[in-house]
Amino acid sequence: MKQINITTPSKNYPVYVGEQAITKLGEVLQSLTPAPKNVLIITDHNVGELYLKDVQAELDQKFSYESFQIKPGDSQKSFENYYACQSFALEKGLDRTSVILALGGGMIGDIAGFVAGTYMRGIRFIQIPTTILAHDSAVGGKTGINHPEGKNMIGVFHQPEAVIYSTDFLSTLPENEIRSGFAEVIKHALIADPSFYEYLRKNITTLNDLKDEHLLNCLTRGIEIKNEVVSQDEREKGIRAFLNFGHTLGHAIEGELRYKDITHGEAVAHGMLFALSLKEETIQLGKNLKRWLHDLGYPTTPKNLSVSSLINRMKKDKKAAGRTINMVLLEQTGHPYIAPYQAIDLEEKLTEFLKEN
Ligand code: ADP
Ligand code: ZN
Repeated sequence: MKQINITTPSKNYPVYVGEQAITKLGEVLQSLTPAPKNVLIITDHNVGELYLKDVQAELDQKFSYESFQIKPGDSQKSFENYYACQSFALEKGLDRTSVILALGGGMIGDIAGFVAGTYMRGIRFIQIPTTILAHDSAVGGKTGINHPEGKNMIGVFHQPEAVIYSTDFLSTLPENEIRSGFAEVIKHALIADPSFYEYLRKNITTLNDLKDEHLLNCLTRGIEIKNEVVSQDEREKGIRAFLNFGHTLGHAIEGELRYKDITHGEAVAHGMLFALSLKEETIQLGKNLKRWLHDLGYPTTPKNLSVSSLINRMKKDKKAAGRTINMVLLEQTGHPYIAPYQAIDLEEKLTEFLKEN
């Protein structure tokens, strides 16, 4: 098992990654002061069905616990479910010493973290991620829910006490979820670590390679890179924006497809290819990446996307400023920078890109 120590201005905490990392749970809870009165596990039906009993087994006879399950899917990151969790926590008598366990993918991490961040003005929580994508969302302290007006519109920064990443829990992930999470690993490599990128290119030639030692390396290096960036910029004022590589177009594609038919990471993969196509120096890198993604079974860019609608969405991006769209590009692997584009210029480039991809 590997341990990564996350350092942020507001808090330091450990991430345990490896087979059976869940066996650390009792120890982590016991080390907390004040000792928790009780524990609330929040999960979704899919993950609950598969792994709730494993988590409960770690708590049995040591801690009193309750479990609350919500339906799977990002649309469940809703105010209604948030409120239902709060009501359940009140009914079960959670107090300020209680601890919430977020057992699931990014969706559960976000909503359970937000419940923890606001219940009685904030109680402690532990992330137990079960997707590859969650290597990204479990670090950085962002929690929240969606509003009909937009995703992640309501939330708080709230850091967990620990992250327990039991890689055995990832063995049941569907293929598209593996692709979704791995795209974010590739992103971390591209923005920060050329030798990690080479390692991935060499060793991950099919999705089947994403297990054991390689899976462990992907999660740990991904988390380390995210931590390096976030710890320098916890509240997203500067370099944290580099984590947005591939996301300006990625988010727009997800939005256009109403968050159906494409996973987050698959959309980000298209966004990264577009970003690499924008600069002469990275065109070849983009072509190689495209071939590799194709071999890994990533879908081609969806047809029938409206360029003007995509550009409109990109203009509304939280990171955009007026008519200028800020794109994260690479000078080369490991060297990201922000390039402002006039919407009209980007529209032309995007039209060309969608024709060719
Ligand atoms: P993320 O935001 O990290 O992609 P989600 O929380 O949206 O993750 O989960 C994606 C889907 O995968 C959901 O339907 C969820 O129930 C399911 N899921 C999460 N973890 C696992 C797992 N380990 N095995 C099988 N299905 C899982
Ligand atoms: Zn992302």
